[in-house]
Amino acid sequence: MNEFDIIARHFKPLAKGPEALSLSDDAALIRLENKTLAIAKDVLIEGVHFRPDDPPGAIAKKALRVNLSDLAAMGAEPMGYLLGCAWGGGWGEAEIAAFTAGLAEDQQQFNVALLGGDTTTHDGVSVLSVTIIGDMKNRPALLRSNAEPGDDVYVSGAIGDGWLGLRVLNGAADVLHMNSDQKAYLADRYHRPRPRLALAVALCGVARAAIDVSDGLIGDARHIARQSKCGIEINLHAVPQSAAAEDWLAGSQDEERARLSLASGGDDYELLFTAPRERRKEVERLAQDCGVAISRIGAVVAEEGVCVLNAERDHIEIAHAGFEHTTAT
Ligand code: ADP
Ligand code: MG
Repeated sequence: MNEFDIIARHFKPLAKGPEALSLSDDAALIRLENKTLAIAKDVLIEGVHFRPDDPPGAIAKKALRVNLSDLAAMGAEPMGYLLGCAWGGGWGEAEIAAFTAGLAEDQQQFNVALLGGDTTTHDGVSVLSVTIIGDMKNRPALLRSNAEPGDDVYVSGAIGDGWLGLRVLNGAADVLHMNSDQKAYLADRYHRPRPRLALAVALCGVARAAIDVSDGLIGDARHIARQSKCGIEINLHAVPQSAAAEDWLAGSQDEERARLSLASGGDDYELLFTAPRERRKEVERLAQDCGVAISRIGAVVAEEGVCVLNAERDHIEIAHAGFEHTTAT
């Protein structure tokens, strides 16, 4: 059973109010008298979401940034966070000091502060959990469910670098030939996602639907399509790649499969969003003002599902669209 089936079957019945958005968005939205809070939570497990030999400061930044990315997916501004730590063996005070130093740097960069949490130790691997709280500042939230046929589909930054970065850190054969600058760049993309907070805030009221790309572009596009009850067409060749990823593509045996891997790998933490075609100029100007590159990669269509097209606009069959956690059945 995958994580989405588990959530739909076992957790959705527990979520009663409109605040939970049916457990189908990047954060819950709690409407108070004069403000709306966005609240999200992510769990990171050693060996799954970070590597045992990742530097503690980098692990801390990733834990915070993946949550900031969920706030960005709603268009919320960060307020504070709670941190749950279950430290495994191997984490002593020096590691925890390096971990909190990483958090301190990011707190300053993202204007957010610790509110509380829980600290435990055990014999297993380290597990971290951040609950983050943001303020919508009375802007309309960017929901997964608002896309409409005819919308343009955009993504920020470059796609696939986080996935390639993990391959670099794991010493995968297909990245061994890359030069040390490229490897360092890709590893950094894996360790330090760039939550697109400023862009998302600017897009509130202009963009229609948004999600942050955490599990793979194609799989996450599916979430917007499903929640909006429409379809998304993605032009695979329009999906943006960094110079390092372009080099990797150039050395691949099957370029189309390689592009699909980048578009389903995950760990991007870029913003995938839709916006009405008439607002194209405005969207481009807003992104430029924020200093964030965006690429128009496709369109929202009426027919449900996600359809990936090659350069000839032929439909490509997809075996694996994104990362999914599974349990025994
Ligand atoms: P994201 O990748 O944006 O963090 P997920 O794919 O982890 O989102 O989760 C999808 C949705 O399901 C989110 O709305 C999340 O809040 C909800 N969700 C996931 N796990 C649980 C859980 N154990 N209890 C309640 N809600 C959950
Ligand atoms: Mg998300």
